[in-house]
Amino acid sequence: MNARPLLNRRLDGLGTTIFAEMSALANATGAINLGQGFPDTDGPEEIREAAVRALRDGKGNQYPPGPGVPELRAAISEHQRRFHGLAFDPDTEVLVTAGATEAIAATMLALLEPDDEVIAFEPFYDSYAACIAMAGAKRVPLTLRAPSFRPDLDELRAKITPRTRLLLLNTPHNPTGMVLTADEQNAIAALAVEHDLLVVTDEVYEHLVYEGTHRPLAALPGMRERTVTISSAGKTFSFTGWKVGWVTATGPLVSAVRTAKQYLTYVSAGPFQYAIAEALRLPDSYFESFRADLRRKRDLLGNGLRAAGFEVYEPQGTYFITTDITPFGEKDAYAFCRALPERCGVVAIPNSVFYDDPDAGRGQVRFTFCKRDDVLQEAAGRLRRLG
Ligand code: PMP
Ligand code: GLN
Repeated sequence: MNARPLLNRRLDGLGTTIFAEMSALANATGAINLGQGFPDTDGPEEIREAAVRALRDGKGNQYPPGPGVPELRAAISEHQRRFHGLAFDPDTEVLVTAGATEAIAATMLALLEPDDEVIAFEPFYDSYAACIAMAGAKRVPLTLRAPSFRPDLDELRAKITPRTRLLLLNTPHNPTGMVLTADEQNAIAALAVEHDLLVVTDEVYEHLVYEGTHRPLAALPGMRERTVTISSAGKTFSFTGWKVGWVTATGPLVSAVRTAKQYLTYVSAGPFQYAIAEALRLPDSYFESFRADLRRKRDLLGNGLRAAGFEVYEPQGTYFITTDITPFGEKDAYAFCRALPERCGVVAIPNSVFYDDPDAGRGQVRFTFCKRDDVLQEAAGRLRRLG
């Protein structure tokens, strides 16, 4: 081998994802992992059984169709109509992906040319920065600032240039828990139409909304033809390991994304697709009680964090709470999270790594509440030792 660095320059600096790093720290120290967002209780038993049944019945054990099995595409289409009043043709306007992660990658690779600009909320979900880089494009942050994390729409307007190709939105937003209001969505949609921009919207937390309601950007006037909507079964059904995600958009947009997806994974794993088709058809009561349970957990952890001395930014959606550690006299979120297992046996995520501007998120730390109540209570008790 010659001495040339092995890693492509576009990926240089992206390193190990913070989620993997912090989960490894939790495993190594035995600390309670409130870092990476995954539930400690699996989703509905009948959906697990549906996956077992699919495996036993030989459904999806060989390469399934590239766009996804017809049963799942139909169920996604029905879900979009049932919850959001949106009509997508299951044959041409729905694409199944290996989680939302692959949907994001395939969409960026399909739609971006080198040097295109992508405006995205900062803090960024980490794969956005990586996928924009892999596509050779440039990310342009629209910074969400504490305490409200509302986007500044004048700033958004000012950041649009002739090189802007798309807006990459995320609502409910990871890590801040911000949910766009109808007024904000209307203003963003008007800008997208005025400047003829594509919009990619990551709505994986669409069912995890505690304040207000989630409305897909694609439902706004002028948006359907320019919007790629991304979602996933991981959060809604508590099966993050199954990696079933999807894209809904117009035929030409889906076809562009499918072209990239074909050469990433070719197809997504089969049997889980049949199970998620059943999950998407669960009665409203499932979605309602899931949301009510998580709302209660949000309040449980939020109260625990406040009692421990954190400043808590109440999330309107997602299963994350962003806090500020400055009340402890601390400023460096990454150093704080590295030391937290040793100090009190808990793992969290430093939001600072999701910012281009190192000052913007310096003292912010994210905790997940998708854990059993006793685990949240134990973590809150341990965090009190920080005081
Ligand atoms: N987008 C956001 C905002 C997320 O938080 C996650 C977390 N997993 C993903 C995408 C990836 O979803 P999936 O696990 O379905 O790939
Ligand atoms: N979306 C989850 C989080 O934000 C997990 C992400 C991951 O592991 N890539 O914690």
